[in-house]
Amino acid sequence: MAAADPRPAAGAVSAENQESPAAGRHAGPPGTAPRDKPVCLIVLGMAGSGKTTFVQRLTAHLHSVNAPPYVINLDPAVHEVPFPANIDIRDTVNYKEVMKQYGLGPNGGIVTSLNLFATRFDQVMHFLEKKQQNHRYVLIDTPGQIEVFTWSASGTIITETLASSFPCVVIYVMDTSRSVSPVTFMSNMLYACSILYKTKLPFIVAMNKTDIIDHSFAVEWMQDFEVFQDALNQETSYVSNLTRSMSLVLDEFYAHLRVVGVSAVTGSGLDELFVQVEDAADEYEREYRPEYERLRKQLAAAQSRKQQEQLERLRKDLGAVDMTAAAPTEAADTPSSSDLIMSRGNPDDSEEDEDSDTDDIDHSATEESKEVDAFGNFLKERKEVVQVRNRKCALPDDP
Ligand code: GDP
Ligand code: MG
Repeated sequence: MAAADPRPAAGAVSAENQESPAAGRHAGPPGTAPRDKPVCLIVLGMAGSGKTTFVQRLTAHLHSVNAPPYVINLDPAVHEVPFPANIDIRDTVNYKEVMKQYGLGPNGGIVTSLNLFATRFDQVMHFLEKKQQNHRYVLIDTPGQIEVFTWSASGTIITETLASSFPCVVIYVMDTSRSVSPVTFMSNMLYACSILYKTKLPFIVAMNKTDIIDHSFAVEWMQDFEVFQDALNQETSYVSNLTRSMSLVLDEFYAHLRVVGVSAVTGSGLDELFVQVEDAADEYEREYRPEYERLRKQLAAAQSRKQQEQLERLRKDLGAVDMTAAAPTEAADTPSSSDLIMSRGNPDDSEEDEDSDTDDIDHSATEESKEVDAFGNFLKERKEVVQVRNRKCALPDDP
């Protein structure tokens, strides 16, 4: 998909690599009730836990039950995307070029690429809204390093933007084979818990790699406190006392957690997973939608204008990056070429005149806006550093 490179470092989202033949199909796997909107499955997890393989497996599975998903790859640094992605961040942002232009290392390059992409996420939403009748599920693969998504302004912007229009469910993929020690298991669960806090969305833990080891030991630890304590008693490390106290706290977290054992390699556990997904999507409708509708109104009124200004400033700060001229890399299968290069900012999206309740400011949104500002300054500074460095290199040596 990401051909070698006439791509600019970033630009209009050049998307829509695959057109699903299943127009009008909105039913899910057998036994699922129809929905009026596709469910977005945001796949998160530590590097190497199997997210990409899992998305590949889900994609294959859904095709086999005649419910092809809409698939988005948000990992700018992945070498090869092993599934047919409808939108691939690599078609829009050239992560190596970002590293070069801003003088960044690999991690900075990945974070910056995702930030650049987030500034064009309105276009992704536009594509999704157009295609929502055709797909029951939207699958979203995220960067290898989990914190790039869960602890960045762009990850939050993307998650909130999606969740304010579509039912969203987080699938936390965990490497079961690397969680057999009770202390490691607990660390992983604490991490899952923190992501639940951060994303504030219905949550499923997918215990992956059950072809290597069955996940029943972990389920038992979660269901039976005594069994977990016994396992801990074998541990002599100094953290085990803290773990003991933590496990009491996590008991509450476990009580409401959806857990399913899967193997991304063999495909086992997927039927059970989709039962959980349906349940989580219902939970979104029940508990989360009202909150997101409120947030959406609030964003549209009080926040959006400011956020738009900040995004616009951010786009200007991107200076060397040509934001308008991204050549579509895979136009062949797309419905029409006008889909490929969207104009900057969408004039249709101007629901900004609604009344605002400014007393009711969402502080997390304000925080994100500040981060967007800081990101703009950061990029500006980086570019200056690189320009100075380049000038120095270009100067002839003093005699
Ligand atoms: P990501 O970084 O989370 O996207 O992880 P990848 O999907 O790239 O997978 C990391 C490694 O784990 C690869 O070598 C996969 O083949 C392997 N892997 C992923 N899922 C499974 C699984 O269910 N079983 C086994 N045995 N290996 C898996
Ligand atoms: Mg991956």
